[in-house]
Amino acid sequence: MNNRDLLNIAEDFGSPVYVYDADTIINQYNRLKNAFNNINSLKINYAVKALSNVAILKLMNQLGAGLDTVSIQEVKLGLAAGFSAERIIFTPNGVSLKEIEDVSGLGAQINIDNLSILEQFGSKYPNIPVCIRINPHVMAGGNTNISVGHIDSKFGISIHQIPHILRIVENTGMTINGIHMHTGSDILDIDVFLYASEILFETAKNFKELEFIDFGSGFKVPYKSGDIETNIEELGQKLSSRFNEFCEEYGKPLTLAFEPGKFLVSEAGHFLASVNVVKQTTSTVFAQIDSGFNHLIRPMLYGSQHQIENISNPKGRERFYSVVGYICETDTFANNRRINEITEGDILCFKNAGAYCFTMASNYNSRFRPAEVLWVDQKALLIRKRETFDDLLHNQVSVDFTIEKEKVLVK
Ligand SMILES: *Cc1c(COP(=O)(O)O)cnc(C)c1O
Repeated sequence: MNNRDLLNIAEDFGSPVYVYDADTIINQYNRLKNAFNNINSLKINYAVKALSNVAILKLMNQLGAGLDTVSIQEVKLGLAAGFSAERIIFTPNGVSLKEIEDVSGLGAQINIDNLSILEQFGSKYPNIPVCIRINPHVMAGGNTNISVGHIDSKFGISIHQIPHILRIVENTGMTINGIHMHTGSDILDIDVFLYASEILFETAKNFKELEFIDFGSGFKVPYKSGDIETNIEELGQKLSSRFNEFCEEYGKPLTLAFEPGKFLVSEAGHFLASVNVVKQTTSTVFAQIDSGFNHLIRPMLYGSQHQIENISNPKGRERFYSVVGYICETDTFANNRRINEITEGDILCFKNAGAYCFTMASNYNSRFRPAEVLWVDQKALLIRKRETFDDLLHNQVSVDFTIEKEKVLVK
């Protein structure tokens, strides 16, 4: 899709608007699949929390993906998109036993990340196989360093607690059918990732009835020029041969699973916003758009640097701008950024707006959440309407009451 297509979408659907390019998602999916084509049984479970629109889930379904979910609501969205429950894995953190039971009742694969729930679930349902989430305590630290992830992370069961896991398994008679890790940090260095994988293999040897090993995610995509990108092809080659070797050792073919979010959808997303005001101060030029961190929180929350293009004037002279929003709070998208000359009314396009953008949007300042559009086969399909004023009132309960007269100060 080109700038003309994006401008037409902003015109037809209004701004701000999120646009997702189906072809980019398809290419990323196929790239990952190809990188692991030496694996007999590969499962790519898309992490729903990155971008949970049902149309996106339907696209993933057509590609043959499974789903990685973190709430029962995400599981239900997956079912609504046509996924069968067996193709959904539930990898929550800190949810109630009740929620896990409910998801299990729907038929999804359960992944448990703490000993307390493992023991309770295993005692009640010894016949339902579960996956366990391990914390390998490995983090990338610089280029070649391998440092030990802090032991008090809230995610996963520490590898140092394997004896306790084994005792629970033995006491309850439950079956562990999968081993999982997701360190949450970016895979910058393939050797670090392979090192963590060795720990997972070592762990796996303790469990005789495994069906799969899930390596989570952490695939990094570039946001700005100079960013490191995970070399998927190299990772695919190295991890595949090591994985196949491990299956030989283990004595049984296993499924290799991943659960990428960002890698599949980040680059497919474009966020289009319109410039309301160009404001010069003594030190800078602000471009103020019809949005804020209520629609795209990543720059303020994580310091993410989304590239911003002025698609209304792509050939204009470059100048320095601070791009900010319209909410009553500091909501800086970019500081001192070189952008083609901006005039009020121009449409700015934020890149990498597919993952963790719309899904983190809110109604702060009582603004409507944006519309979402899927660009597929050269057509723009509206996949979520812009909210309306009714949406803001929808769950508010209208009550009538009068405070005591004496409480109202007249002077
Ligand atoms: C968020 C999440 C992912 C996806 O991470 P990305 O960085 O978007 O690829 C995968 N697995 C689990 C358990 C997650 O919580």
